[in-house]
Amino acid sequence: MSSSSSHSVLLNTGVQMPLLGLGTYKLVGPEDVYQAVDAALVAGYRAFDSAAVYRNEADLGRALNELLPKHGLTREDVFITSKLGPKDQGERAMEGALRSLSQLDLDYIDLYLIHWPGTQGLVVVDQRNPGNRSQSWAALEELHAQGKLKAIGVSNYTPAHMRELMQSCKIPPALLQVEFHPRLCQTELRRVCEEYGVCFQAYSSLGKGELVTDPVVMEVAKNCERTPAQVLLRWAVQQGVPVLPKSSNPDRVKDNSRLFDFTLSDTDMDRLSALDCEHKYCWDPSEVV
Ligand code: NAP
Repeated sequence: MSSSSSHSVLLNTGVQMPLLGLGTYKLVGPEDVYQAVDAALVAGYRAFDSAAVYRNEADLGRALNELLPKHGLTREDVFITSKLGPKDQGERAMEGALRSLSQLDLDYIDLYLIHWPGTQGLVVVDQRNPGNRSQSWAALEELHAQGKLKAIGVSNYTPAHMRELMQSCKIPPALLQVEFHPRLCQTELRRVCEEYGVCFQAYSSLGKGELVTDPVVMEVAKNCERTPAQVLLRWAVQQGVPVLPKSSNPDRVKDNSRLFDFTLSDTDMDRLSALDCEHKYCWDPSEVV
C-alpha cells in the first residue's frame, strides 16, 4: 500500500480508495442517512462505510440512488464499503454478502470486510472460529472473482488472525479496518499490515466523540486554529491512514472533511502519538482465537 495522492490510498487491487469516508454506525432511518449523505457529498466525501449489523445498508443504497444524480455524480464516483455480520460468519457467508449487495441495491461493492474474527453465538475459545473465518474468506474470494466484491478485507483482526489468513488465503486482504486514534496507536498491527501490503484503515478516530475534549488534542487544535476533530483526523491521514468519521450533524460532517489544507508539525504529531495508552472505546477482539 502506498499513497498516490494526498487524498487517496492505493489498495493492493490497483484501485484508489479515498482517505476520507463517512462512517455510518448509528446513522439509522432513511431521513438521517439521507441528510448525512447529502451533506457528505456536498463536502466532498466520496466514500461511505456501512455494515450488515448497522442495519442501514438499504437506507444508504436508497440515499445514494437519489443523491448521486442530484450532485451530478455516478456510481463510479463513490467508494462503498460494507461488512459481513458475525451471524453470517462461516457457511452463511456467501448468503450474507449477497444480502448486503441486495440491501445496498448495488451490482458491486467496492470493499467488503469480514466485520469480526468471531462468530455470533460461539464463545471466544470455540475451535470452530478459525474454520468459520476461513470459510467466510473463501466465499468473499469467490464473489471477488465474480466481480461482485471489487476488494475484500477484514476488520478487528489481531496480528495472529492476520498471519492465519495470510497463510491460507488465495487472495490477500486489501485492507484491515481497526480502531485507531492517539490513545490506541496499534503499532504492531500497522507493522503487520506494512509487511503484508495491506492497507491499514482507522475507525473511531474521534474516540466515539470522547477524544475531542482531551486536553492535549484541544491545545494542539487551539494552536493551529482548527477543531479538535480535525486535529484527530489529520493526525491519522498525515500518516497515510484512511479515516471514517461519523456524524449525523451536517455542520460536523463538513467540519470533519477539512483535513487536506493544513499540516500538523512534527512536534504536534509526536505529542498526540505520546497519548498512546492502548485504550479501546469499541469492542476488543484480542481474546478471539
Ligand atoms: P467516531 O467517528 O470516532 O465518533 C463519532 C461520534 O463523534 C458521534 O457521537 C458524533 O456525534 C461525534 N462527532 C462527530 N464529529 C464531531 C465533531 N466534529 N466534533 C465533536 N463531536 C463529533 O466514532 P464511530 O462512529 O465509532 O467510528 C466511525 C465509523 O467507523 C463508524 O461510524 C463506522 O462506520 C466505523 N466503525 C467500524 C467498526 C468496526 O468494527 N469495523 C467499529 C466502530 C466504527 P454526532 O453524530 O452527533 O455529530
